[in-house]
Parts: sequence; C-alpha cells; structure tokens
Amino acid sequence: MSRISKGESSTRSSIPINAARHDAGPRDDERPPLRRAQSLSPAERGRFFSGRREGEIDSTRTYGPPVLTSPRVDLLCTVRGCGDPLQQLAGSLECPRGHSFDVSRSGYVNLLQPQDRRSKNPGDSQEAVLARRRFVDGGYDREFQSEIIRDIESLSLKEGSAILDAGCGEGTLLGTIQKRLSLEAHGVDIAVPAIDAAARRYPDVQWIVANADRGLPYPSGSFDLVMSITSRRNPAEFARTLTPTGTLLVVLPGDDDLHEVREAVQGAAVTRSRVSSTVVAYESHFELENVRTIRHTRTLPRNTILDLLAMTYRGARGKERARVEALSEMEVTMTRDVLRFRMLGR
Ligand SMILES: [Zn+2]
Repeated sequence: MSRISKGESSTRSSIPINAARHDAGPRDDERPPLRRAQSLSPAERGRFFSGRREGEIDSTRTYGPPVLTSPRVDLLCTVRGCGDPLQQLAGSLECPRGHSFDVSRSGYVNLLQPQDRRSKNPGDSQEAVLARRRFVDGGYDREFQSEIIRDIESLSLKEGSAILDAGCGEGTLLGTIQKRLSLEAHGVDIAVPAIDAAARRYPDVQWIVANADRGLPYPSGSFDLVMSITSRRNPAEFARTLTPTGTLLVVLPGDDDLHEVREAVQGAAVTRSRVSSTVVAYESHFELENVRTIRHTRTLPRNTILDLLAMTYRGARGKERARVEALSEMEVTMTRDVLRFRMLGR
C-alpha cells in the first residue's frame, strides 16, 4: 500500500477493466465508449499520471502509472491454466483467482512465467537496448518509421482502434505510432530492459513483458492491427488476437540489409530474402495482401555501426573481432520488407 501516491484515488481499484467482454470481440458499434488517457479531465489525468513528459525519467516516483488505461482490450492472467482478466489494484494487477502481478516503477507489468523463459534474462540485453535507443535517437530509423506510419494510416483505422506490437523492443516505433495516430497501443516483449525503456518514455502505451512465442495475454479478437517488426512469428496467436477484419503487418530485414557492414565484418554478405518463407509460415492463417521494400542508404559514423552490431550481431570472434576494430565511417544500406496480411477467408 505504501506504493500508492496520495494523489491516486482508491476508486480506481473498483473499476472493472472491460470485464464484460470475453467473446471474440464486439462489432464496431458495440464497442464500449473509448476512455483514452488524452480524453481524461486534467484532474483525472493528474490522478492517473505523474505528469512526466516524453523521455523524462522520474526516479523519485514510487508507484507505476496505471497499466490498464485501456477500455477495449483486457489483459489476461498468465498463470498456467488461468487466463482470467486482470484488474488493476493500486500497485498491482490481480485476477479473480488472486494471482497478482506488480506494476513496475516505470509502469510496465511483467507477466512472464518461469516456464516461459529459457534463461534468467531472456531477450535483448540492456546493452542491445541502449544501442538500439542511440540508433533511433540519432534519427537513423526515421525514414523507416515514417513509411510504416504511412502504411498504417492507409489502413484508415478508426481513432481508438487497438494495435499490438509483438516483440516491440524499446518501443519507439509503437510509441510514435500511438502519439501520431491516437490508437490504443499495446506492446509486448520478452526483454525486461527493452520494456522498461519503453515504459519510461511512452506512458500512454500498455507495456507488458511476456513470451509472445508461447502466447499473447489478450482475449481473442482484441486487435485491429498486429505488428511483428523484425521479430518472431506466431501465426496462430496473431490470428487469434486479431479481429476478423484485422490486419497483420510483418516487417523483415531485406536481403541486402546492412550488407556493407556484414561484408566488412564477416568477409562476405550472404543475401537472403525471408519473404517467401514468411508467406509460407503464415499461410495457414493469413493471405498476403501486399509486399513492399523500404530501402535507404546512409553514411553512418563508426559508433553507430558498432551500435548496429550490438543490436543485431551476437559477438565477434577471432578474425571478425579485428575487422570490427578496423571499422570506420561507411555508407550502409538499410532495407526492410513490409508484408501486409489479412485473415484467410475474410
Ligand atoms: Zn489468474
């Protein structure tokens, strides 16, 4: 209880979180009225949020912001055999059977169960997350972000539509999409350092640590858009959690992505398109609507190339280590294949 700020009303704990909805998702006209953070009155906002601005880290805060600000999509208990909807109590989420998950200081919830991880600290390391943040903050991902946002805009999702980024990493893409398009945004990643960084910077997104390979902690038919951005595949879970008219966006590294860096470090760049194998992997649940390639070339300073390696590459050995040492500023091609799928039989 000491984690509750005096500004946080106890009435919050009595609000059922979309508890009535457990089916495959209502039609648009049946959806409950949206209660987004931005639509709260200043007094309510003060109660729910710490007033932190983007990018600001408030180390004096002793409680997490509300995780379940989302009126549309329930979060489900991940204790084996449970799956009941979670409700937010002050500093934790709890299901009706009494399973409880703490809200972290930065505002995410870790729903990872011991059986859902192979190592103690699964997913991206803190070092990889920081490298990714420096890369993104350096503006090197900006063209790609704009292109993806344009793709999402072309879907004409209604304001307040719910989207999921499965394997969201440090969250800049999803956080930026949420700000630009006023969507209800949910991000899942298995790496605590990534989700922690995401939650600190983008408090209006619901950030969850979970193993998306095993299962997504949301009811069926929750999302209008599911994204997997250079991340893992889980066709069955993506199909289950999408609405029947929902869209799946899968982004893959293109065949010539970073080929200059790979050549410099590995001696030769193997070019490999992942598009057809991905279409095959998804074909039991989805049909491909569109595929396009986003490619741009930038001159990157040495430190940024080292960050790219930290993000994508599992440690250089032997000869490669000497080549990494010798790296200097170079022109680098960055390529993404963007695959848009819809549900089969739609
Ligand atoms: Zn439970």
